Amino acid sequence: MPTASAPTSTSKKRKAASTSAPAAATAISFATPAIADKLARIGITREADLILHLPLRYEDETRIANIRDALPGIPGQFEVEVQSCDVMYRPRRQLVVKCTEPASGEDVVLRFLNFYMSQVKQLSAGKRLRIFGEVKPGFFGAELVHPRYKLVGEATPVPDALTPVYPATAGLGQYQLRSLIERALKRADLNGSLADTLPPEVLKPLRLSAFAASVKTLHHPPPDAVLIQLAERTHPAWTRLKFDELLAQQIAMRIAHNTRRDKKAPVLKPGKSLQQKLLKSLPFALTKAQHRALAEIANDLAQPHPMQRLLQGDVGSGKTIVAALAALQAIENGYQVALMAPTEILAEQHFTKIAKLLEPLGITVAWLTGSQKKKERAASVEAVESGAAQLAIGTHALFQDDVTFKKLGLAIIDEQHRFGVGQRLALRQKAKVEAHQLMMSATPIPRTLAMSYFADLDVSVIDELPPGRTPIVTKLVADARRDEVLGRVRAACSEGAQAYWVCPLIEESEKLQLQTALQTFEQVQADFPDLKVGLVHGRLKPSEKAAVMHAFQSGEVQLLVATTVIEVGVDVPNASLMVIENAERMALAQLHQLRGRVGRGAAKSTCILMYQGPLSETARARLKVIFENTDGFEIARADLQLRGPGEFLGARQSGLPMLRFADIDKDAALVEAARDVAARLIGENSPAVGAHLDRWLGGRTHFLKA
Ligand code: ADP
Ligand code: MG
Repeated sequence: MPTASAPTSTSKKRKAASTSAPAAATAISFATPAIADKLARIGITREADLILHLPLRYEDETRIANIRDALPGIPGQFEVEVQSCDVMYRPRRQLVVKCTEPASGEDVVLRFLNFYMSQVKQLSAGKRLRIFGEVKPGFFGAELVHPRYKLVGEATPVPDALTPVYPATAGLGQYQLRSLIERALKRADLNGSLADTLPPEVLKPLRLSAFAASVKTLHHPPPDAVLIQLAERTHPAWTRLKFDELLAQQIAMRIAHNTRRDKKAPVLKPGKSLQQKLLKSLPFALTKAQHRALAEIANDLAQPHPMQRLLQGDVGSGKTIVAALAALQAIENGYQVALMAPTEILAEQHFTKIAKLLEPLGITVAWLTGSQKKKERAASVEAVESGAAQLAIGTHALFQDDVTFKKLGLAIIDEQHRFGVGQRLALRQKAKVEAHQLMMSATPIPRTLAMSYFADLDVSVIDELPPGRTPIVTKLVADARRDEVLGRVRAACSEGAQAYWVCPLIEESEKLQLQTALQTFEQVQADFPDLKVGLVHGRLKPSEKAAVMHAFQSGEVQLLVATTVIEVGVDVPNASLMVIENAERMALAQLHQLRGRVGRGAAKSTCILMYQGPLSETARARLKVIFENTDGFEIARADLQLRGPGEFLGARQSGLPMLRFADIDKDAALVEAARDVAARLIGENSPAVGAHLDRWLGGRTHFLKA
């Protein structure tokens, strides 16, 4: 490299060069502590991490273009000669460098709003520059604002590789990252640490290229590399790196699974009598899918190691009864069961329903939430501690420090995606022996996602709805037609149906959300004095909430105005109309959950999605998906595509390292290959397992515990 580019990197480079003694404090031998700090901010703590810090995209500096041919919006590289360089003060202090392009005689202005006085000298008349940036029409004709530039001679050769652009962080520019990565690559190449972690028996059949060659290509693609393949990450070098990343994930998940499998858990043999009694008392027979899921769970519970199963089923598929039957298996073996729900409304509903089902079988069910009265709570805690309660239902209050189970055998987590890793961990620690764990989720997880992020769980799927449900009709209605919608609600209610009116979600302010709910409540009451209207929101006391829900359940209340608190799990089969205001603000999963509150009985159900225009492109896409699909899996797939796995799962919630390079949707075939290879390598006890995990995850394996 001839002279440097931006002023910041020049000075930094000098600083870095002067500290020639390697900083012993960092794992990156050639980084100063200050630089090591900045690198750590983007997750780079080892030289191996630098090598895996792959470009976001590339810039082509291997060609010099003509200014006249520059296309708007597309940066290019040009060669110019400085005519004059002046600091100007109007409209604000700036450095204006007037240049001409020797090849064409075209004039062009470079404008710098931030600059050092040293640059004024550096950019004196007659100097030749190679500039990189976007040409725009400016006040003085063609101009570039803050182009990257370097001083060159008349015959300085252009680079022979594309220039990588890396994910950067404040205080660490491209130039510096590039040289750090360069050094890491050189050192690794010399000391053999670019060696393949995978044996040829793995690479060959999958036609994967060598690791060393792949990273080198990605950091320095040759000019004849197919840019589109690099940009779209379909280049064989990308394929190799994506495979490696997925494999590391698969190995980590599988090891996590095996580690938990090595723990001990009580053997809970299926004793059929309680289950039979419950089944006989139900007004319906289980669906085939429910039977299958239950059999899988029953089999797990009878093993001497903890079950780690996810029970998946679309909204309304009947997971609760399966959970209740599983609970009976534990209870029959003399163990306690905890059932945790994410909201008080849902916990309350489970309690009411399940207690009604199980108490006739002589089972004591305790109820525990955060907002219980002290006395009531103390009684519940005591019942759990003494073992008097065989089943405890509640929110995460179930796992507060003052609650100890006498003999916990099974923990059931409803709507598990709503709980954080921490809460799930706390739950596991509650049991003296590891308890069996059954997680339930109505957020259908697309296959590839399940295969990657949930590879450490066994999954049962209820893929069939109970018979006799009629499909829900979904309508999209603009906000302006609110009166019409209100009229429909009134008509439906006076014909004996029940309806939900869901007020808009206001992310920024719970207060505001409450306010709109109150307003709507008052308005409907005023408009329809003959209708019995209820209101439910997050600020109500649990007892008040329960009273409203109960009134709705019994049919006493016809119209329930609600905030999104009713999103999960609420089950009132007679409700057949749902109105959702400002549906454009809601996520797909949430809309699907909400809509799933209707269509639970035999009556034909309708869901009216009201929206406020103009719609953004994503909002439009979301509404289109929910309008066109009722299948939760289809919706989840679309959601995954719209949002990516990080947001889909909630990165913080899932606690799992997100994939940086692979795309589980587009790279589904790689996910499958990685899964097979992971199983094989672990099965063979291959040294590749350790080497591969070390390269990709280094010390970041703490999540394996969760
Ligand atoms: P989810 O899977 O969304 O949690 P629920 O467990 O709340 O669904 O069940 C939804 C409704 O379907 C409940 O009213 C439940 O009693 C009913 N149900 C469950 N299984 C069956 C079945 N096999 N046949 C008929 N109704 C069922
Ligand atoms: Mg449920």
